[in-house]
Amino acid sequence: MFIGHFGVGFGAKKISPEISLGTSFLAAQFIDLLWPFFLMAGLEKVEIDPGNTELTPLNFVSYPYTHSLTGTLIWAMLFALVYYLWKKQGKESLVYALLVLSHWFLDFITHRPDLPLSFSENTKVGLGLWNNATAAMVIESVIFITGVYLYAKSTRPISKTGFYALAGLVIFFVVVFFMNAKGDPPPNADVIPYVGLAQWLFVFWGYWIDRNRQSLETVKAQAQVLP
Ligand SMILES: [Zn+2]
Repeated sequence: MFIGHFGVGFGAKKISPEISLGTSFLAAQFIDLLWPFFLMAGLEKVEIDPGNTELTPLNFVSYPYTHSLTGTLIWAMLFALVYYLWKKQGKESLVYALLVLSHWFLDFITHRPDLPLSFSENTKVGLGLWNNATAAMVIESVIFITGVYLYAKSTRPISKTGFYALAGLVIFFVVVFFMNAKGDPPPNADVIPYVGLAQWLFVFWGYWIDRNRQSLETVKAQAQVLP
């Protein structure tokens, strides 16, 4: 799953106005953002395998540190702990932990049984929705659209940038989503970590959007303070 994870990140704003879009992208996509580093270190492995599922030409051979259920739980707790120590916001820390965890469960729906439960990789699970490309794309689109809708409804632009940065990112996501679905597999597995690293761009794009938009909850709270 790709834009579905970002959809969940967008939607989190509805739960708490304190949440920054950049940090919620970072959380929702955390294990995929770490994955390139583990690939480059040789600790995890991916291969090109056209037809692995209908939707992806990749065979996720081994990724216990980033994509096992145990690993994801640990990353979720670490993410929340670091955020809590930094900002002292209990509710937001919990939301970020759930965002990190949400990634595994969305992957569980889409991946074939390649997601390990533990570091030992003895048991691998996955419902394999990617074997039905149309259903997978519809479900992912619904999650994405719902998340963007919730974010757009819970915030308002405070500058023109606040509108265009959001619209630009949504269009960019949709284009990449359809290009991924239609496109050829990468030429060789060595480029995969670099494509993965490019996803960090979306985190910074998220912060940029959030800085140029204001939560409606915050606006309401300010209006009550003013006479
Ligand atoms: Zn993933």
